[in-house]
Amino acid sequence: STASPTLADAQAMLQTTFGYEQFRPGQQDIIQAILQGRDVLGVMPTGAGKSLCYQIPAMLLDGVTLVISPLISLMRDQVDAANENGIPAAFINTSQTPDEQTMVFEQALAGQLKLVYVAPERLETSRFRSFASKCAISLVAVDEAHCISQWGQDFRSSYLGIGEFLAALPTRPVVAALTATATGRVRDDIVRLLGLQNPLIKVTGFDRTNLYFDVLRLESKRKTDWIIDELREHMGESGIIYCATRKTTEALADAINARLLNTDGKPLAAAYHGGMSAQQRDAAQRAFVNDETPVIVATNAFGMGIDKSNVRFVIHHNLPESIEAYYQEAGRAGRDGEPSRCTLLWNDGDITTRRRLLDTDSENERLTEEQKEQVRQAKRQLLNTMIGYCRTVKCLHRYITNYFGEQDDAADEFATNAANAGEEYHCVGGCVNCNGQVQVSDVSEIARTISRCVHDVGQRVGVGRIVHVLRGSKSQDMIAMGAQALPTYGMLSQESEAKVRDVVNQMAADGYLTITEGRLPIVMFGPKAAQTVAPDFHYVMKQTQIKRKKRLSTT
Ligand code: ADP
Repeated sequence: STASPTLADAQAMLQTTFGYEQFRPGQQDIIQAILQGRDVLGVMPTGAGKSLCYQIPAMLLDGVTLVISPLISLMRDQVDAANENGIPAAFINTSQTPDEQTMVFEQALAGQLKLVYVAPERLETSRFRSFASKCAISLVAVDEAHCISQWGQDFRSSYLGIGEFLAALPTRPVVAALTATATGRVRDDIVRLLGLQNPLIKVTGFDRTNLYFDVLRLESKRKTDWIIDELREHMGESGIIYCATRKTTEALADAINARLLNTDGKPLAAAYHGGMSAQQRDAAQRAFVNDETPVIVATNAFGMGIDKSNVRFVIHHNLPESIEAYYQEAGRAGRDGEPSRCTLLWNDGDITTRRRLLDTDSENERLTEEQKEQVRQAKRQLLNTMIGYCRTVKCLHRYITNYFGEQDDAADEFATNAANAGEEYHCVGGCVNCNGQVQVSDVSEIARTISRCVHDVGQRVGVGRIVHVLRGSKSQDMIAMGAQALPTYGMLSQESEAKVRDVVNQMAADGYLTITEGRLPIVMFGPKAAQTVAPDFHYVMKQTQIKRKKRLSTT
């Protein structure tokens, strides 16, 4: 080709070579940047279509595209798939004889290949280096780019050599880094360690717009009834109920089956957990996948590698440990693209249990005290964002996508316009917050007073004492600490203890306060504390929902 390729060429290739009508979110921007010679970092979930982002440019650009991919076992499949689409592709790895490798090198040098897959280790061999220095490489695609970061989940030291390999090439190619998972820290590492130059960073495709997200605060003893009501209303639908313990899965499955039967008169629900024999687990899983038992009540041991497309709901009986865990489990709903529901049930007790687990969990690991504390801190942070999800009054879809680093400009603009026009914003897919099913109450004054009280007590006491001071308790410890003399003493005497405590917890979830961890937690100011004393401080929170009318239609 002579003139440089354009987006129109890419569009045409999408249709002719791949047979797809439209680009998926992110693909077009990434391809356009590459064609313009700009480095990219694309973060898109598995199945979102990352391969196309480098395969189309590979076809349109002169020379060869090198694809760095970590798993030799997957290379053959990737190459076969590319060849099937009519893209001349080959791989170079240790499964080949030197002659086979020579053949691939020669074909690439002769311009007969568009894609060459290699593992990162290969880049260090002199044979490959000498080939690379002679070959016209227009693009290098780094697959699973998060492997370069020690903050990622699959750090591979071999990835650290890629940056140096790129720098040593006679002509620097365009570099496209792709991954399905990258927190901000990992993204920074990818850019720095690969040496990406002014890259377009595109995080997209994380929103699942056919899922309806619901969060419901419910005392533990009411959860079973709520779930049974829900199942009765959606008889015959397939769903997963995730529980925190093995015992709960069995008790809940029994409770369901005692009160509801499937339409064919057989049990509606089956339990699934790691304590069952492999045979029992297999049977339960098969009955669920074949739609014989529509509901499975499981621990998080269930779901890995299960491909069931018509799961209509996922209910979490308890709070998961992180947004990652929650989204992975909830995301098993609606794989077929049909509207599906994800409901999270939680209460304060669940949080306490999670916190306790988290502090004991890392105890027996073979780590130094300092490392243990780091692990615990990271886990606390993850849990706090999960709690934030339970408590937020904002859109749940956007809470999740923002968490994964996705900035949805279109949705932001839409929401802003709606707000300016005095309308309510409704997310695509729907969630309990956008659909106006939550009642919020203005707690600005309470929050301001709490903030003052934290100041009064010098950021030195726990939640219980803050509440007692504010409600003007006459208990012994109040007298002992001279609480009566504090300006905020008794200022919230007309509010219930539960309410004040709840606002404190909410403020902690939102960053106005920080509650230290450990055996004697202390309430301190959070990073946003100063906002509470601003004259225009406005603060709302969800009213405690005990029972709520069922969700309206979500269209
Ligand atoms: P990832 O690498 O992000 O996990 P893949 O590149 O394997 O995802 O793509 C997942 C599937 O989506 C593939 O079957 C691919 O052909 C398909 N696909 C990719 N882009 C599109 C598109 N624009 N329209 C329809 N299907 C697409």
